[in-house]
Amino acid sequence: MGDFFERIIDIEVTAEAAGALADQAVDWMVAEGLITRETSSIGMYSLQVDKGYKPGPNWEQACADREDPRWRPGPVAVIVGRDQHVGGQGSDEADSATCPRCDARTVIINYPEEWEPDEEAWQPFSDAIESWKETGEGSVTCPLCGASVPVTEWRFGSGFTLGALAFDFWGWPPLNTRFHAEMSARLGHAIETQTGKF
Ligand SMILES: [Zn+2]
Repeated sequence: MGDFFERIIDIEVTAEAAGALADQAVDWMVAEGLITRETSSIGMYSLQVDKGYKPGPNWEQACADREDPRWRPGPVAVIVGRDQHVGGQGSDEADSATCPRCDARTVIINYPEEWEPDEEAWQPFSDAIESWKETGEGSVTCPLCGASVPVTEWRFGSGFTLGALAFDFWGWPPLNTRFHAEMSARLGHAIETQTGKF
């Protein structure tokens, strides 16, 4: 049904806790019949893992609606580890970054005039993200207020999210808000969602 995904990202879990939390979330989705323990690589293109859990008998309960009754969703990939998650068509840079201390917004890709990132503006974020992925810490000094802010606290433009645990639902119809709320409650953390195409 097309090579698209909806992604749920836990934006609060630490890398150390992500593995155990992923197992709990999988156990819960299996118990609910949303997925099975059987895995498959067919119809999924997550960068970090090559297999996901096949949908279970009750998969529709997580979805808002199913326009085509013949619809069969693909696997659900579970991605553990600090990473940058990109929606849309998957650009490697955020289009903007907003400082949580002073609300100043740094433009990185000046749409619609430009489609390429301002490398100079992006570099401090890129460096901090690499450092965060390796060590769990990385900060960027705000060009306006001068505060040194952990890179995980910057608010990036839509479709760019940092997190240590994510779930890619490949080829599923839109997930419903109740499922989003239940996932967030099960994880015990705030989540963000993305959609994108391979
Ligand atoms: Zn600032």
